[in-house]
Amino acid sequence: MMEPRVLIVEDDAELRGILVRGLAEEGFRAEATSNGADLLKRAVAAPADALVVDIGLPDTDGRDLCQALRAQGVEAPVLFLTARDGLVERLAGFRVGGDDYLTKPFAFAELVARLQALLRRSRPEEPPTSDRGLRLDPTRHAVAAGDRERSLTPTEYRLIGRLLGESGGVVRRRDLVRAGWPEGAIVHENTLDAYISRLRRKLLELAAPCEIVTVHGVGYRLE
Ligand code: CA
Repeated sequence: MMEPRVLIVEDDAELRGILVRGLAEEGFRAEATSNGADLLKRAVAAPADALVVDIGLPDTDGRDLCQALRAQGVEAPVLFLTARDGLVERLAGFRVGGDDYLTKPFAFAELVARLQALLRRSRPEEPPTSDRGLRLDPTRHAVAAGDRERSLTPTEYRLIGRLLGESGGVVRRRDLVRAGWPEGAIVHENTLDAYISRLRRKLLELAAPCEIVTVHGVGYRLE
């Protein structure tokens, strides 16, 4: 799975910059524009996984923009941003198809949490069960290659599932920690490394046709 593409339309240049940089740091592919017409063009040109839409835009109202997006077949969930308190109730009535809204000013962490929730709802994550010559058995928490099989702990299973889901792409360390451990768990740097070592050993025992490669300073990937 690639990093989710998030398109942002926000006419406040400062906030726009904060959103793009912050979301990029959180592992989103974030792209921003200052007006509705441009957002519509971008969203139609290439599919986005989620849209962040300011309600008060110079050329349109964010809600009208959302209707225009839907009319063009754009189905990505929309997270509305609004500075106007009075709008909240009307927005609530407007919510459709898993859309959500945030009132400015908001904590950045809240935006990230809402976006992640929207993405989860719109794209339930079914980890792939085979790739790179490996097969995962979700009911037995096992990994197999050819006719050999090794059982995994739940954490090992979630970690290898996350790596498989990226189809050979790099998975950042913090994304692996998020995949492997419950939210809020304190996971030391070397704990993840220890789990990766155990997974490497199991892949070796399986004579698997792939291995877990360290991408220094970033994370890991299957090769
Ligand atoms: Ca605005």
